[in-house]
Amino acid sequence: MAEKITVIYIISDRRSGSTLLENMLSKSEEIISVGELAMLKGHINKQGSGALWNWNCSCGKPVLECEFWSEVINDIYDDNFQTKIKWPFKSAKITVTSFFPKSSCKTLWKFISTRKNFSTINTLNEIYQSVSNSSSKKIIVDSSKDPMQALAISKCKNITPKYIWLKRDTRAITYSKIKRAKINKSSHKRGLRTLAATLFFKNICASAIHCLKKYSTLNISYEALAANPQQELDKICNYIGLKNYTAPDYMELSNDHTIGGTPGRFERRPVAEDTTWKNFYSRKPILNLLGKFANRF
Ligand SMILES: [Zn+2]
Repeated sequence: MAEKITVIYIISDRRSGSTLLENMLSKSEEIISVGELAMLKGHINKQGSGALWNWNCSCGKPVLECEFWSEVINDIYDDNFQTKIKWPFKSAKITVTSFFPKSSCKTLWKFISTRKNFSTINTLNEIYQSVSNSSSKKIIVDSSKDPMQALAISKCKNITPKYIWLKRDTRAITYSKIKRAKINKSSHKRGLRTLAATLFFKNICASAIHCLKKYSTLNISYEALAANPQQELDKICNYIGLKNYTAPDYMELSNDHTIGGTPGRFERRPVAEDTTWKNFYSRKPILNLLGKFANRF
């Protein structure tokens, strides 16, 4: 039997440093990173997140004109092509689930088990296989982040999933979401609501991780990753079974063909913790206290 493909799947909220982690992992010679694979269909159709970079691949070309992706999806792309698992985010059932992460697996697996999602799982399975064939790499990084997508990919028959749950201070995520909404002029986000939504999402991640307990998972903190990149990278290499390599000093794209990611990824940036959120809370002591409390969950 052919050797299975390992997919390192990053679970996290938005604004948590998943692009940094994905970029650091992509520097291993054993790894190919695809970015946020769940967003591939949206990038092809130029819908959903990605308008800032016109939904292009990180190489700068539209996905269907990019040499990497056009080869990968050549035999897979059809009318049913879908790369994002559908689940009822913010529904009453998910809200209840978020309060009881340890007794919600049945509900969560049920959300995955629809005909549409099974078709998406088959497509994802084919894409991982095709990425591996095109790149001649057996280890793929998928930074889709979505915790329900994480459950779904465990059903891909050609892969062995290895999960990394990337956590960040709830206050930093909250601040970053408010700032991003302002830049995008999408909506005015209020502090308390955004903090509650961040905690809600964190609990769904905890539920998913709990449901994935028969698979291997590793928790990494963004703050530790930014402060001690080599130490955290060694931890990940050990977990995946990768040869150790030197942690990069900069987050930068180099011949990458990744989908999605943070809008700032096109600039070369030093690997360092973004602490700009701290000033914001000096004027918001209650929100700061609530955020600190939310970090305990
Ligand atoms: Zn490309």
